[in-house]
Amino acid sequence: MKFSAQEIQKEVARLHKKLGALGWTEKACEDITKVTLEINKLKKEKNAIVLAHSYQTPDIMYGIADFVGDSYGLSMKAKKTKADLIIFCSVHFMAETAKILNPEKEVRVPAVASCSLAESITAKDVRDLRKKHPKAGVICYVNTSAAVKAECDACCTSANALKIIEGMPQDEIIFVPDKLMAQNLQPLTKKKLIKWGGTCIVHEEFSDKDIREIKKLHPKAKILVHSECTPRVVKEADLMGSTTDMLNYVKNAKGKQFMLVTECGLKDRAIAEFKDKEILGSCILCPYMKEILLEDTLECLKSPSKNQIIKLSETTIKKAKRSLDKMVEIVENV
Ligand code: SF4
Repeated sequence: MKFSAQEIQKEVARLHKKLGALGWTEKACEDITKVTLEINKLKKEKNAIVLAHSYQTPDIMYGIADFVGDSYGLSMKAKKTKADLIIFCSVHFMAETAKILNPEKEVRVPAVASCSLAESITAKDVRDLRKKHPKAGVICYVNTSAAVKAECDACCTSANALKIIEGMPQDEIIFVPDKLMAQNLQPLTKKKLIKWGGTCIVHEEFSDKDIREIKKLHPKAKILVHSECTPRVVKEADLMGSTTDMLNYVKNAKGKQFMLVTECGLKDRAIAEFKDKEILGSCILCPYMKEILLEDTLECLKSPSKNQIIKLSETTIKKAKRSLDKMVEIVENV
């Protein structure tokens, strides 16, 4: 595709306005301009939208995405649009959630990456757990495959997990797959949580010692921790929650300094979107999320490979949707 000098100049200015805060020079913005322009043009031609999880790279979040956020929120946003095609820049299971909630739309994912948490459990594992604990209700975190969601009674997100646990009729809950999230939730409920052994390779890496160092250097800083972190890290936190909870906290808090104990993409978002706040400390990259490049997204839009198109059976969609619907029902009624 060819673009005029004027179109390129306008695009460089648009990109630099957001990416400049993250250290991108005008030259670096110019280098990606032809791809972002082509993607944005193709989106219109194909009536497509691009969803980007907050752990994507800034060029994707600010260059081509129509919506940026967490996986469930993005899938719900897509539902409200009239788009025929959804390109979901994220890991595979998140695109599956979009397909479950938008079965009439075509959903594509630019890189076919799963993740340590979603891969830790299969549908058969859930069926076996049910046999072992027949009286327990089964909740699966949204970071699971569609096949796993189809075997559960209710889904939950990191933002509403406790609410879903409390809203279930059973006193015993099989909570899969995140062992650390279950450990963090157990002290907050009287119900017995039966844990699985999955972990997120990003969040389990943070150390409580590093956080204490930041606190010593910046005693007024607020420490915001994702609930996939270890309980030792959560103990140091002012807030344990989801990516959306963390961003809302930074947006609304009176303080100026924050440490976001999560993947680097969210730190980038906070720096780009809250220029009056100081975001401290280091972060960890998710290798699965970072598999997606602008060029993959362009190819996925132009001529997707078979693997880039999300295919789920009607039965899986129906059963997995029941788990997601149950989550919504509990949130609305508790
Ligand atoms: S951050 Fe953790 S849970 Fe999220 S995709 Fe990466 S490995 Fe999976």
